[in-house]
Amino acid sequence: MPVTTVSACLPVLGAEVRAPLDTGEDVPYAALDYAASAPALRAVWDEVAAFLPSYGSVHRGAGYLSRLSTELFEESRATVAAFLGCRPDDALIFTRSTTDSLNLLAGALPEGCQVFVFATEHHAALLPWDRHGRAAVTCLPAPSTPEQAVAILRAALAQAAPGPKLLCVTGASNVTGELWPVADLAATARSFGARTVLDAAQLAPHRPVDIAALGVDWVALSGHKLYAPFGAGVLAGRADWLSPAEPYLAGGGASAVVSASPDAGVEVTWHTAPEVRHEAGSPNVVGAYALAAACRALDAAGFPALVAREERLLASLLTGLAETPGVRVLWLFGQDAPRVGVVSFVVAGWESGALARALSDRYGIGVRDGLFCAHPLVQALLGDRAEDGDGDCDGPLKAVRASFGAGTPDEHIERLVRAVRELAAAGPPD
Ligand code: PLP
Repeated sequence: MPVTTVSACLPVLGAEVRAPLDTGEDVPYAALDYAASAPALRAVWDEVAAFLPSYGSVHRGAGYLSRLSTELFEESRATVAAFLGCRPDDALIFTRSTTDSLNLLAGALPEGCQVFVFATEHHAALLPWDRHGRAAVTCLPAPSTPEQAVAILRAALAQAAPGPKLLCVTGASNVTGELWPVADLAATARSFGARTVLDAAQLAPHRPVDIAALGVDWVALSGHKLYAPFGAGVLAGRADWLSPAEPYLAGGGASAVVSASPDAGVEVTWHTAPEVRHEAGSPNVVGAYALAAACRALDAAGFPALVAREERLLASLLTGLAETPGVRVLWLFGQDAPRVGVVSFVVAGWESGALARALSDRYGIGVRDGLFCAHPLVQALLGDRAEDGDGDCDGPLKAVRASFGAGTPDEHIERLVRAVRELAAAGPPD
């Protein structure tokens, strides 16, 4: 079936912002740090602005605006659930972010759960699991192909003791942008009775995520990476581990019956429905509404067209970087492995912080430098730098990451390629 092409990028807020250069001039800002936080889609902002006059307390009041906001909050839940292909009995909990969502699930693991996680994951997916003393973490080595990832998981699960098990895996790496074989990993996990939580922080803004089709048990994502920077994230999936778990926050809303007396102290019966039990306090209705608006906008644009456009930009960026002497792009699965619009690289002679600063000061381009909250992966990818000819770089081993998406005009990618070419040729300032 032919793919419709989106020739122009989707309108985003901030497109008119001009960045000051060190010459004293200014240029249109090129936001190429979508993997950290993407700009708000104009459609999201328009919907939020239209909603705000109707804003009222959610699940708390009998007044008209309270009822309207409650209705819109619950409709937003249904919209995001449909966007993620949730099964009819899946729960969808609004959280603050992917980090928040994975921590929530970590608090709901059954006693004795064995969690399997690749060493290549973002810290949000690496760190939460054993904090409650109920789970043991098995750290899987970095694979060099998607097939090897599946084989590594299979071997680890084959040796695991009986009992509850969970695999936590990213859909797309926040360092290399590479797509992980989520459906194959989830199927392998399932064949050993293990469950899977998908860290979709980087996948959801770039590819459709369908919980049922992927065969995963939970999905976590962040609104601020999905063009909806209003403080909401999501954990969606199976209710059975979440319903009996300690409420994520203790407070109003999550509590069904509360009594307090000097003699008996404070006693509480918690709600069991995960959306109620784990959403104590006044919910972030604006964030939830914005996330739903982003889902509507992405669905309206259509992922096939968005992906086709992103792949064209990605090809021109990767070609431009490959043609620039001294540039090394980071990857795990290979140069041509499928990836989203996230590209990390180093430039011979340049310390990455200085390079990122030069991209900003001289070209008005915003990228990120560092280890991207994935220290083990970046350090492993950069570890052989001294041996492959790039060892003339002083300063700590770090990389620069350029990331883009539905709101990125062609000119931003063209400017980045030209800037890296010029900076690589000129070398760092003395
Ligand atoms: N997982 C991945 C793959 C990420 O890239 C990030 C953030 O960069 C996170 C999790 C954490 O997301 P947040 O900071 O929104 O909680």
